[in-house]
Amino acid sequence: MYKIGRMKITIKDQTCDNPIDLVEDLLSMLYKNGQILINYIVEKHNCFYIATVTTTDDDSIEAKYFNVYIRNILEKVEFTYEIISDDGFASDSCQCQEHSFYVLGTYYGDDSSPVLCGDCGKEIPLIKLPYIFSEDEHFSILSYQRMYNSVVDVWMSSLSDRFTKRQLTYYDSQLTKRGLEICHELESKVGKPVYFLLPVGEFEINKTAENIVNCPKCGGELNVLESTECVDKVCHSCRLGYIDQHMFDFSKK
Ligand SMILES: [Zn+2]
Ligand SMILES: [Zn+2]
Repeated sequence: MYKIGRMKITIKDQTCDNPIDLVEDLLSMLYKNGQILINYIVEKHNCFYIATVTTTDDDSIEAKYFNVYIRNILEKVEFTYEIISDDGFASDSCQCQEHSFYVLGTYYGDDSSPVLCGDCGKEIPLIKLPYIFSEDEHFSILSYQRMYNSVVDVWMSSLSDRFTKRQLTYYDSQLTKRGLEICHELESKVGKPVYFLLPVGEFEINKTAENIVNCPKCGGELNVLESTECVDKVCHSCRLGYIDQHMFDFSKK
């Protein structure tokens, strides 16, 4: 369950000209490391700052999750924190010890992890995942999520229906290709299949995920998964997944 936390941040380096930059750097590093969400707010007090943050669990801000960037900046700035309450808007995150497969299900919104547990269907906080692409943070996944949401924003505003619908629904669009690259890389780290959740739309006019039978990419028959919440059909070889009730219905627009 996501939590609301309060961090008291103090600048160690009193010669620093722009202490707020250090505060911003620290919070940005914690965000990119999957320890807090991007919705933080900061109060300025006489000798310290208070940041109210959303974090993924009681222990998510602990030092055991720090990366090299956070350890370095803590030479100039320090913080203590307390967890205030549960986040009223948050849904539960995955508590499974093992995951038989994963789904990159980039939904609209930046208040959750885009990686879902194939068994329970709930999101897996990024701090529970390995870094990918030789990074020491989760920047690739988070920047993909932002890029995806930007395309959805334009589609929702009806500013560019053809371009955005194609990006969001075509298995070979630049957006999907990048998603599949992330799935492939994550799969190499976790050793379990990682599927990319694709809404039905580009070539399946008047079809929904309920009535597509074949993979749009390779033409092979999709496998129906009975016992999972976040994906209903998958193509094992293309690592594409479909859900019957996707939050975006592209079949009619
Ligand atoms: Zn789970
Ligand atoms: Zn396929």
